[in-house]
Amino acid sequence: MYPFTYHRPETVRKAVSLAGSAPDAKILAGGMTLLPTMKQRLASPAALIDLNGLSDLAGIEVTSRTVTIGAMTRHADVAASAELREAIPALSDLAGWIGDPAVRHRGTIGGSVANNDPAADYPAACLALGATIVTNLRKIAADDFFLGMFETALGEGEIITKIVFPVPQKSGYQKFRNPASRYAIVGVFVAKKGSEVRVAVTGAGENGVFRVGNHETALTEKFAVKSIEGLAVPAEGLNSDIHADAVYRAHLIGVMARRAVAAAK
Ligand SMILES: Cc1cc2nc3c(=O)[nH]c(=O)nc-3n(C[C@H](O)[C@H](O)[C@H](O)COP(=O)(O)OP(=O)(O)OC[C@H]3O[C@@H](n4cnc5c(N)ncnc54)[C@H](O)[C@@H]3O)c2cc1C
Repeated sequence: MYPFTYHRPETVRKAVSLAGSAPDAKILAGGMTLLPTMKQRLASPAALIDLNGLSDLAGIEVTSRTVTIGAMTRHADVAASAELREAIPALSDLAGWIGDPAVRHRGTIGGSVANNDPAADYPAACLALGATIVTNLRKIAADDFFLGMFETALGEGEIITKIVFPVPQKSGYQKFRNPASRYAIVGVFVAKKGSEVRVAVTGAGENGVFRVGNHETALTEKFAVKSIEGLAVPAEGLNSDIHADAVYRAHLIGVMARRAVAAAK
């Protein structure tokens, strides 16, 4: 690692001012992505602003209409919350399938969403559920937040404080995971709310998480596995790598979407 100054603020306001004053500063949450990249010397922030001292940024609040998750909430706590499982079972499943126990007990929802890895799970949930990402400055709809691989609408020094998920009638998530890292080779999240159905895919897009229009239209007409049987997803714009090529990923999107609808609760 290259040398850096370390700060552990006790308030969000202090964290924001530190992030704004220290040139080339980076927010540190669970460190599950940032620290490995620093160790590999792929990232060399001049300053680290550690949010682990901000206990009010962690926690889950469930009402009949929304689930609000603090940015510093660990994946394991999202997976373990009985209230959350009652409200959005697919989000609970998703958190429990992230990485391994060590990653789940350190990694946070805020870090995952801010990082926007093209194979991360939470971006698919945010997009399918129509979540709102709340920062120290503003509220950003998920549709406007994820701009591309590792790219988001966040400005320099802007900090995610919480994420608000509307509670759907039904939600399902299925993931075809990389056997080593457990990241999604293809993950599909479906959510039905009122007359609207949203289908979001992670792990497959060359440009990160995206929605699948033809599946949404078919499921909005009738929310049933039969509605999307035989519906093709173009391989164009999908990733090809050592794990799977674009044609296979296009096939997997169909399979995972049907399984997610079948599993939806
Ligand atoms: C072995 C392994 C397996 C994994 N498997 C999966 C998997 O299956 N699925 C999956 O989705 N992820 C997986 N991950 C990634 C994991 O979920 C990380 O926790 C997540 O990517 C980053 O969260 P973090 O809290 O650790 O953030 P950090 O590593 O601390 O930060 C990540 C980035 O986000 C920024 N940041 C952090 N918090 C905020 C905030 N509140 N506001 C603004 N910016 C912020 C940081 O500055 C940094 O750029 C895996 C990681 C490892 C090491």
